[in-house]
Amino acid sequence: MSPKEQIQSLRGELREHNYNYYVNDNPTISDFEFDKKLEQLKTLEAAHPEFYDATSPSVRVGGEVTKNFNTVKHINRMYSLDNSYSIEDLRDWETRIKKIIDGDIQYTCELKYDGASISLHYANGKFVQAVTRGDGNQGDEVTANVRTIKSVPLQLKGDDVPDKFEIRGEIVLPWDGFHKMNEERVEQGLDLYRNPRNTASGSLKLQDSAEVAKRPLDCLLYQLAGENLPVKSQFDSLTLARKWGGFKAPQESKLVNSIKEVFEYINHWDVARKELPYETDGVVIKVNSLDQQDELGFTAKAPKWAMAYKFAAEQVSTRLEEITYQVGRTGSITPVANLEAVEISGTTVRRASLHNADQIEKLDIRVGDEVYVEKGGEIIPKIVAVDLSKRPENSTPTVYATHCPECNTALVRTEGDAKHYCPNDMACPPQVKGRIEHFISRKAMDIDGIGAETVGQLVDAGLIHNYADLYDLTVEQVLPLERMAQKSAENMINGIKLVNKCLLNVCCSD
Ligand SMILES: [Zn+2]
Repeated sequence: MSPKEQIQSLRGELREHNYNYYVNDNPTISDFEFDKKLEQLKTLEAAHPEFYDATSPSVRVGGEVTKNFNTVKHINRMYSLDNSYSIEDLRDWETRIKKIIDGDIQYTCELKYDGASISLHYANGKFVQAVTRGDGNQGDEVTANVRTIKSVPLQLKGDDVPDKFEIRGEIVLPWDGFHKMNEERVEQGLDLYRNPRNTASGSLKLQDSAEVAKRPLDCLLYQLAGENLPVKSQFDSLTLARKWGGFKAPQESKLVNSIKEVFEYINHWDVARKELPYETDGVVIKVNSLDQQDELGFTAKAPKWAMAYKFAAEQVSTRLEEITYQVGRTGSITPVANLEAVEISGTTVRRASLHNADQIEKLDIRVGDEVYVEKGGEIIPKIVAVDLSKRPENSTPTVYATHCPECNTALVRTEGDAKHYCPNDMACPPQVKGRIEHFISRKAMDIDGIGAETVGQLVDAGLIHNYADLYDLTVEQVLPLERMAQKSAENMINGIKLVNKCLLNVCCSD
C-alpha cells in the first residue's frame, strides 16, 4: 500500500470505530487498539503533510487556538420556541393550528436537551462550519472546537447526501462527564461547575481546542435546514440524518397522531428522563409534515408549527436547620441553607442556595422553617417557598450576617448591589487564596507546579499574603509543606522564577 492508501484506510477505519463507539454506543475495538491506530495515522500524516484533511479523525485531539471567535450571520434564522406548561396550553395550540390546516396532523415528539444550541454546516459530504445560536440571527463560529467532539461526523457517507445543508442540535455534557469534571475541580480546590448546560456552552468558547477535546461533550442533532432537501417530514429527516453518516439524532423521538398521544409521551418521559445520561427539561412538539409547517409559518419570534413543553421542576419540602455564609474570591457573601437531608430527583440534598439578603427577606425564610426546595438543572438546588403553616411558634426573623465568617470584618453592601461583601481583601483568607489562584491560572502566568491546593497551604502557613510574595519563596520554605518533595519544590520555585519577568506586566494587575 502507498502511504496515501494507508492514510485513507486508517482514516476510514478510525471513523467507523468512532461512530460505533460514540454514536452507536457499541465499541468494536479496544481503546488500546484505537489509540495505536490513531498514533499510526498521526505519524503517517506528519510525514505526508500533502495529504492533510480537516476531516481526518486525527483532528479530534484539537490543538487549533482561536483568539477571537468570528461572528457569523445564520443563513436560516435560529428561532426560539414558544413554551407551554399544561395540556390546556397544548390543546389551545392545536386549536390555533387547526384553523389554518385542513386534514390530519401528525406530530413528532422530541426530548428537549439542556445544552448549547449549535448549527453545523456540511458541504460535499464534509463538516465545514459550526456556529453557536447567539441571538438567533448571528452567532459565533466555533468550528475548531466542535471538530473535537467525537459524535460530530466530519465526513458523511451515502450517495443521497445533499451538496450543502445545515443540521441543528444541542451540544450537551452528559451527567457522567459533568460529575467527573467536578471531581477534578474538587481535587484542584476549584469552584464546582454549576450545571452541565453552562459548562457545555462555556466549553465551546474555550480558546484552545485541545482543552475542548478533553471534555466529554456530546452532540445531539434534530433539525435539518437548507434548500431542496430530500425530506417531506420532520420524522423522516431524523431517520435520514442517522443514515447520512451517523448524526446522533436521538432515538427517543416519536411520531404520534394526536395531542392526547403527545401527552402520553410527556408523562412517560417526565419519569423516564431521570434514567437518561443527559439533562432534559422538556419536550419539543413539531408538526411533522414539512408542507404543513410551511403553511403555518412563523410569528415574529417563533415557528407556529412547534411548541416546547416544560417539565415542572421537582419540589420537596424539608427543614431548614441553619443558615451559613460563604465568602467568594471577590469577597462576595453567599448565604447557604443547611437542610435536613432529603431526596430530590434521585440525589440527596443537604444544602440549597439562598442567593442574597433580599431573597431571604422576600420569602421571610427562618431557621426551623419547613421549606420547599426545587432542583432544576443546577447542582445547587434553591429554596422556592416556606410552608408558613408549619412555622414553629418561637420562630424569629432571620438577621443577616453583619461580619465576615472567615475574618470577622464588618460586611458592606453598596447601594443597588444585591450582595454583601467582605471589604478585607488584603487579609481575608478565601479572598487572598482566590486572588493568588486566579493570578497563577492566568494564561500568561501559568506557573507549573502550583495548584489551588498548594496556594491554600502557602497562605495557611503564612508564607504568602499576595501573589508578589510568591517571588520571595524559597525551596527551604516550601519543603515542610505536606506532600511536598524536593523535586516538586524545586519545580515550583523554578516555575515562579520563569514567569518573574511578567510581574510588571499590566495583565496581572488584578
Ligand atoms: Zn473576610
